[in-house]
Amino acid sequence: MIDSKLYTTAVHAGTTPDPQTGAVMTPIYQTSTFAQEAPGVHKGWDYSRGTNPSRDALETALAALEHADHAIAFSSGLAAEQAIVQNLETGDHVLVCNDVYGGSGRLFRTLIGKFGIEFEFIDLSDVVFVKTRIRSNTKMIWIESPTNPTMKVMDISALSALAHENDAIVVVDNTFATPIFQQPLALGADIVTHSTTKYIGGHSDLIGGAVMTNNENWAEKVRYVQFAAGAVSGPIESFLLHRSIKTLAVRMAQHAKNAQAVAEFLEGHPKIRATYYPGLPAHPQHELAKSQMCGFSGVVSCDIDGDLEAATRFTQALNIFTLAESLGGVESLINHPEQMTHASVPEELRRELGIGESLLRLSVGIESSDDLISDLAQALDKM
Ligand SMILES: *Cc1c(COP(=O)(O)O)cnc(C)c1O
Repeated sequence: MIDSKLYTTAVHAGTTPDPQTGAVMTPIYQTSTFAQEAPGVHKGWDYSRGTNPSRDALETALAALEHADHAIAFSSGLAAEQAIVQNLETGDHVLVCNDVYGGSGRLFRTLIGKFGIEFEFIDLSDVVFVKTRIRSNTKMIWIESPTNPTMKVMDISALSALAHENDAIVVVDNTFATPIFQQPLALGADIVTHSTTKYIGGHSDLIGGAVMTNNENWAEKVRYVQFAAGAVSGPIESFLLHRSIKTLAVRMAQHAKNAQAVAEFLEGHPKIRATYYPGLPAHPQHELAKSQMCGFSGVVSCDIDGDLEAATRFTQALNIFTLAESLGGVESLINHPEQMTHASVPEELRRELGIGESLLRLSVGIESSDDLISDLAQALDKM
């Protein structure tokens, strides 16, 4: 059950009528600079890389949703992640889930790894094993839960406790669950990050990212990267994201309801070999998912009974689901990870993660679930 207070928070956080005009919605402050009365004397804004009222309103709303003291908004999910890992030091060691979002893995390996920061990619769903991989220089554990595309769930509380025993911090990429279904800071994590491009934006019309934390020291460091490197959320994106947040709780409720219905349909279909959704009792970590999430969000993966050609024909036979990368928008999408989102993952790792030619990932939208299931049924009938 979604915490009913979040419906109110989503609508109101960060929104106060404009003091000058009474405008109910925060205007789009499409300006780079702000007039000063005397040198250094201004109304709190001087240059939009530093602060901008449209971005301030968004950050207030994002912080409220994650019950965080601080939120810092970026121009993309990866810019937000970079602002975190940029603060590591040469010699630091980081444990990362091996099925981390491909772009995050690329950022860590190619851009940050070359400064002598070691990222070790392991199965974080096995806490006993993770314990054996902690070293004296382990400074961070990077979690994604649920993961993509096989919907693995990691124990955020247990990993946070383990990290803190060893003076490390935990970062959770909460993009898939959203703060509506999962509150990592309350589970013990230190930092939450999002690709706001996905559910928070929710309409497939922008790219954005954010970092939320209650840790003053980390908030200051990440805020400094936002200012000093400048990958800020612009006024229009900030406005659109803030607008989207108002419907986040109602959208997520519908995404989860539809995804559950789609997952149950696929699970019982003779032409589907396996269905991956944390909301199914057959999911290996269903109990853990239930203990740390209050809903299972809108992404469902499945293995169809067939080869690449069959998978391709299936995606082409669909009428409502659009074949496209990304997820989290109001419209339903289907993706072939091996050929699309995960094409850059080395083949050996893909095989280890179970990403084969017959795996498909569905971002279940907020349309009628009857229509979505009929669409899937007619495409499966043609196979
Ligand atoms: C999309 C995505 C990202 C990257 O975000 P961008 O906005 O594309 O930069 C990071 N993590 C997850 C889980 C994602 O789905």
